[in-house]
Amino acid sequence: MARNIIDGKKVAGIILQQIHEDVQEWVGRGNRPPKLQAILIGDDPASRTYVGAKTKACREVGIESDTVSFPDTISVRELKEEIRKFNRDDGIDGILLQLPLPGHLHPSQVIETIDHRKDVDGFHPMNVGRLAVGQPTFRSCTPAGILELFRYYSVMTKGRNAVVVGASNIVGSPMAIMLSRENNSGKATTTLCHKYTRDLTQHTIQADILIVAVGSPKLITGQMVKEGVVVIDVGINRLTDVTSKKGYRLVGDCDFDSVSEKASLITPVPGGVGPMTVAMLMKNTLLAAKKSIYPSKE
Ligand code: NAP
Repeated sequence: MARNIIDGKKVAGIILQQIHEDVQEWVGRGNRPPKLQAILIGDDPASRTYVGAKTKACREVGIESDTVSFPDTISVRELKEEIRKFNRDDGIDGILLQLPLPGHLHPSQVIETIDHRKDVDGFHPMNVGRLAVGQPTFRSCTPAGILELFRYYSVMTKGRNAVVVGASNIVGSPMAIMLSRENNSGKATTTLCHKYTRDLTQHTIQADILIVAVGSPKLITGQMVKEGVVVIDVGINRLTDVTSKKGYRLVGDCDFDSVSEKASLITPVPGGVGPMTVAMLMKNTLLAAKKSIYPSKE
């Protein structure tokens, strides 16, 4: 691997090994293994792949998992009822609702039904709110994983210019909260860009740390960044590629060739952020089982 490439797979492997040991220790003390309940709606191949990767990681670290699939015709009422059953089940520690949802199901409406004490994705307003005010919480997995990468690669954030492109509830917004606020891994001067940002380059060119989570191939090019920038490319885009076995290849939101020429560190797609997201989900599921965030009934 080139010198400036961040190896997310390797770092995730180290974290998963530690979680495996922690789970063994937890079970060794007479507790049942943690359990993750995954919910898959419809038959989107990418969602199926992501859930498959998450349940595989569960097996590797000793977390039990179960996946329930519903057709994309499921109503909001039916889905909420199914979620409430999982909320009531004391044998389930974490609930994973794989996104995106079919158009008639509004994510915020459904996510609020998940018991916040089992919200291992960290998407429930209770957990996002606690993140925003600096209380212990289930931190959203993708941004939390990015900060673990910074820790491993000794990327300093304090006082530096961080620019986050993309402001979704699951990546960009919690990323900006963490980068700007958290004491040990944040305290960066943070700019959050979105669809209505005028002259994106004016912001990205100032970035010491650039995080891109949009879902738009080659949105960021080498001309838009400065020498030495640390780039985290969260985007996962499927481009048709008849030369590949699968018929497609995955690319991020950055034009890797031109951006990596200037970056001091950059994540590849795939193999950068994705494995870290999965590792952080395992970490949150263990925290849920241990009731580390919400010790008593709140
Ligand atoms: P999303 O919900 O579609 O949000 C995209 C965000 O990008 C929105 O805030 C949108 O602005 C903003 N945006 C759209 N066009 C823009 C532009 N031209 N310039 C600046 N901002 C723009 O997507 P998401 O769920 O955050 O995911 C983003 C990408 O990351 C996707 O490719 C997804 O597959 C990938 N992803 C990867 C992982 C991983 O583990 N590697 C995890 C999650 C997501 P508005 O708010 O104004 O609409």
